Formats: sequence, structure tokens, C-alpha cells
Amino acid sequence: MARYRGSVCRFCRREGLKLYLKGDRCYSDKCAVDRRNYPPGQHGQGRIKYSDYGVQLREKQKVKRIYGMLERQFRLTFEEAERMKGVTGTSLLQLLERRLDNVVYRLGFARSRNEARILVRHAHFRVNGRPVNVPSFSLSPGDVIALKDRSRKSPVFQAALETRSRRGDVPRWLELSADRWEGVFKELPAREDITMPIEEQMIVELYSK
Ligand code: SF4
Repeated sequence: MARYRGSVCRFCRREGLKLYLKGDRCYSDKCAVDRRNYPPGQHGQGRIKYSDYGVQLREKQKVKRIYGMLERQFRLTFEEAERMKGVTGTSLLQLLERRLDNVVYRLGFARSRNEARILVRHAHFRVNGRPVNVPSFSLSPGDVIALKDRSRKSPVFQAALETRSRRGDVPRWLELSADRWEGVFKELPAREDITMPIEEQMIVELYSK
């Protein structure tokens, strides 16, 4: 299936929430949610009433878009979460958070998850000293993520550095050594560490139908 190449701001407007998909723009007064906080499309300003199924579907779409995943990848991740011990919804979020592209974004080495995915694919990062170019690579506690030496002067990473200061602190479950362009995946995030407004139980209910 082809990846969507249109305006991603539509996704945020559809959910009525900033999903932070565009890097710098999300922190500026050009953000489409701040300017036009109603769903896109001809009937966007009308009343929209969702059924229970519709609400669950919207929640799944929202999470899928936050992490920039396609339906098949997302479904497979959910099935993996179902096979794990513990609460399926929490396991799903942990699997999403431990993806290499997400951690690169969380560490502030990229301005958005989309950019992080491209940078990982272009082999700019090492994990425990080995080059890894798979965005979905699942990190384990103790893994060290480092930008390759030759990539450090690239303007894209200098721009990420500027955006990082606007994004706030690196999450507690990661450790950043900014001067060495290195980060450690210390532990799996707990549910309360994931602060985006996500109701993962709805996704579990949707996929359990
Ligand atoms: Fe979403 Fe960012 Fe676009 Fe705002 S600028 S609507 S947060 S992608």
C-alpha cells in the first residue's frame, strides 16, 4: 500500500488535536489546528456524531497517525501486543514507543517521527555500535543509540537541535548525552510516561470485534 503524501495537518484537524507531525511548524502560529480547529472537508464545520464503532475507529486512526504507521504494520503490532503478558493496550503503546524511529524523535535527533523514519532509513544511526536502518527496529533496555560521526554536521541535525529546545525534556525512560549525540533506552516506558491523550482500550475493543 502506498504511503499517504498529502497534507498531514488534515489528520490533526480530523482528530481536533495536535499530533505533532510536521516538526517546527507544530510549534509556530502556522499550526492548522490553532488556525482552523474543525475537521477538514466540505462538511467539516457541520455537526459530526460518531457511533461507538466510529469513536473506536477514530482512536485507532489517531494512534496510527501519531506513530506514522500503515494499517498492516499497526495491526501486526497489535497482534504482537496481544501475545505479550500484561495489559494489551499498554503493551501496544510500549511496542510503539520502543521503535527506533520513535526513540530517535524522542531524543530530539529529528523534528518529527516522519523525519526520524527517513533518517533511520538513510543509515545515520548506530545501535550498540552497529548500523541499523530499520525504522521499526525494536529497542531493548540498555541499548545505546548514536548518530554516526560523519552525520553530525548535516544541516538536518543542526535544525533538529534548534527544535529540541522547544519540545521540552527528553522522557524519563531515555537518557540523552547531547554533546555526544547519543542516547540510552534505559527502560520500557510505564503507561503514565506516555502523555499523549490516548485511550488504548478503545483500540483493543475495536480489534476484538
Ligand atoms: Fe498537526 Fe503540526 Fe500540522 Fe499543527 S502544524 S496541524 S500539530 S502537523
